[in-house]
Formats: sequence, C-alpha cells, structure tokens
Amino acid sequence: MKAIDINKLKEEANRCFLCKVPKCKKYCPIDTQIPAVIQLFKENKIDEAGEILFNNNPLSAICGVVCPHEDQCLGNCIRGIKDEPVNFYEIESFISREYLKNTKLKQENKLNERIAIIGSGPAGISLALILAKKGYKVTIFEKRSHIGGVLRYGIPKFRLPVGVLDDIENMLLDLNVKIRYNALVGPVITIDKLFEDGYDAIFIGTGVWNPKPLNIKGETFGHVHYAIDYLKSPNSYRLGDNVVIIGAGNVAMDAAKNHGASNVTVVYRKGFEDMTATKAEIKDAKEDGVNFELFKAPVEIIDEGVIFIDTKKLDDERKTMVNIEGSEKLINADSVIIAISQSPKNNIVSNTKNIDTNKYGLLVTDDEGHTTREGVFASGDVVTGAKTVVEAVANAKKVANSIEEYLKLKRV
Ligand SMILES: Cc1cc2nc3c(=O)[nH]c(=O)nc-3n(C[C@H](O)[C@H](O)[C@H](O)COP(=O)(O)OP(=O)(O)OC[C@H]3O[C@@H](n4cnc5c(N)ncnc54)[C@H](O)[C@@H]3O)c2cc1C
Repeated sequence: MKAIDINKLKEEANRCFLCKVPKCKKYCPIDTQIPAVIQLFKENKIDEAGEILFNNNPLSAICGVVCPHEDQCLGNCIRGIKDEPVNFYEIESFISREYLKNTKLKQENKLNERIAIIGSGPAGISLALILAKKGYKVTIFEKRSHIGGVLRYGIPKFRLPVGVLDDIENMLLDLNVKIRYNALVGPVITIDKLFEDGYDAIFIGTGVWNPKPLNIKGETFGHVHYAIDYLKSPNSYRLGDNVVIIGAGNVAMDAAKNHGASNVTVVYRKGFEDMTATKAEIKDAKEDGVNFELFKAPVEIIDEGVIFIDTKKLDDERKTMVNIEGSEKLINADSVIIAISQSPKNNIVSNTKNIDTNKYGLLVTDDEGHTTREGVFASGDVVTGAKTVVEAVANAKKVANSIEEYLKLKRV
C-alpha cells in the first residue's frame, strides 16, 4: 500500500473548484457530499469530514479504493476538462480510514427486535452497521471464516488490504453485532428456523458465487478453473507458466494480475472498447505484462490449451458478433481461467418456500427490497446480479429504511 502524503492530499484538495452544482457528486451512486468534505479537509476538520462520509456510506473507506472512479467522481470532475481531475477518492480513503481507526461507535438505543443478516459482503455489512447503530439486535450469518464477501475473497489484497475489513469488524462488534462464522444458511439453519427463533426480519445479501460456464467441451478438465473460485485462494493453485484467462471484466483482470505466471493472456470475443473492466484495471494489467488477444471466442478446451475461433462485429450499432468459419487456432496454456460472470447459489431458495427468483436465479424484490416472503428482505448482487460495491451499499441503505418501516408497523 502507498504511503500517504498529507501535504499532497492538501494540494489536491486545494485544486478543487468547490463547484456549487458539483458533477462529481451527481455521478456518485451514493451521492457523496464531495465539495463539503473537501472544504472540511482543507480546514483540518478530519473527524467531522469522516463522520459525514461514514453516515452517508459506511463503506466509504473501501469505496475510496475500489469504486470505478473514472465513471464517477474522477471522470466527471470539471477540472478534468482542461487539466488533471481532482483525485477526491484518495482524500476520501484517507479521511475514512482515519475515521474507522479512531471511532468507537455505540448503539444509539436499545431496541427489542432481532434481525438476521445472511451474508457479510458490502450489502450485509452496511445493513448491519446502520441497523445495529440504531439499536436493533443484529446477528450476521456468514458461511466463510471471515467477513467481507468479495472484498476479502474476490478482490486481491494488493488492491484492497484486509486491514480495513478488520477495522469494520471491530466496529460491528462494538455495536453488539453477533457474528456466526462458518454458518451456511439454507440446508441446516433455514429461514423458517430463524423466524421460529424469534427473528423479526431477515435480510439476504448472499451475492453471486456460481461461476457462469462457457458450456464448451473440455471445461471439466483439471487445468481449467473458474476465476471466482481461483480468487478465493490463489496460493493453492499451481498454474504453470502459460495462463489463458477468458473474459474481460474486473474479475478477469484480477485473475490475470494475481499470480506469478510468466505468460498471461486475456482472450476476449470483442474489442477493448467493449470490455467491462475499468480503463484503470486494463491499464494496470497491461503494465503488469498481461497480453491481450481480442475478437476470439473459445470453441473447445484441450490438454494443450484452448481452441479459439476469430469473431467480428456484424453490425456496429447492435454489437452482434459472428464467428469467422475456418479460423480456429490453438492458444497454448498450462492453465485456463474462466471469468465470464457469476450467478447466485440456491442454498436458501431451494430450502425455503415463497421466495421467488427470476430466470437468472436472482431474488425478486420490489424497489425497497421486500422479497415475495413477508419479513424477508434482500439486496446486493443476489438481487441485481454482479454490480459494484457502492451500488450494494446504496441499495442496502434503502433496504435498512424499509426494514425499519416494517418493524415499526409490526409494533403497533
Ligand atoms: C473478483 C472481483 C472483483 C471485483 N472488483 C470490484 C471493484 O474493484 N470495485 C467494485 O465496486 N466492485 C467490484 N466487484 C463487485 C463487488 O465486489 C460486488 O458487487 C459486491 O461485493 C456485492 O456485494 P454483496 O454484499 O451483494 O455480495 P458479496 O460480496 O458476494 O457477499 C456475499 C456474502 O454472503 C456470503 N454467503 C453466501 N451465501 C451464504 C449463505 N447461504 N449463508 C451464509 N452466508 C452466505 C458469502 O460468503 C459472502 O460473504 C468485484 C467482484 C469480484 C468477484
């Protein structure tokens, strides 16, 4: 992690125009009060700035690091039209990290209602912090041995050091949140059992952890891995020298940069302009020496590598791709990593009645996060499909309000 130079951050803050109608704020999915925070930072009111950031976004310290800033605050900074845009996200990370380290939160109230939160990714953690702070009795059920979800078991540590998650965990414990680690909800602990034990509301924030398959021959071979599995414990794998990564989102870039193989090639069926990975991630991968092979679709995986067929765009507007017959070629690989998105696992819905899913297996909710079963709420990737951390937090905030509304109505 880079050492922080406060003077540099101050210089950066001084470059901000403090726009009256800030575009950076408008394009922030969680509406961060950027000029107000920069002003406080300039006045050395770091605690106050930290409180504003935390109250608006309990994962501000993380969003400052992992948000796709080029599409949000950074990419919409007015200063960036003629000059370099202001790096607000570095100022945000610094302030929010200090806030987490120095703040001991207390429950504002003691309320009787018990809330179960299933999953401790960005959605579950945000909801737990908001509701526990208000005084509810919150229990998190997490199937892994640590909290964080993708933040710990997906995004590599060189991008997001886990210390920030440890600080958040301490904050949860300060707020009397009970955490049941290694507790998979579905087969043994069921939604019905949670209600029988007196939980008043249940939140599902279990994310998307089923890799989407390519559905081609050879996908079950021993040298083939799914990125979402690989990133959980990259050190367990012996990938060899030549690694082919199929896909071009951030998950593919994280898998591409996350090991010591000497020859890593990302292969994608479209062009750079169509990649869903951020420009910064693609640039980092290139700087890391990752090769890119574009306009190639996988046809079959064999022991020696992957056979790809060339593709081309049929029509630019609709971006329909077609294969060029007869262009099949082998790209050699000791290991193949597939990174073409994820869908939800069905541990909960297959053991519970009345929680509807759509054709992709995502939970069906209304805009406020009510599922089709009374008292059960959901948000995050398990509802939206694979998105971003800040969107998971923003939606969790909305659901926290609807859980409160629901509990207030139950009381009368
Ligand atoms: C490799 C990778 C890199 C990414 N990089 C970025 C990035 O740079 N920036 C960005 O904004 N977004 C990024 N994303 C997307 C972002 O991380 C997700 O949108 C976000 O984590 C979704 O949060 P969530 O809480 O819905 O789900 P998750 O983070 O998936 O958390 C779900 C949690 O639920 C637990 N769980 C699942 N089922 C059960 C069960 N039955 N019982 C108990 N616990 C359960 C899981 O173990 C997990 O802890 C990335 C995603 C991946 C996979």
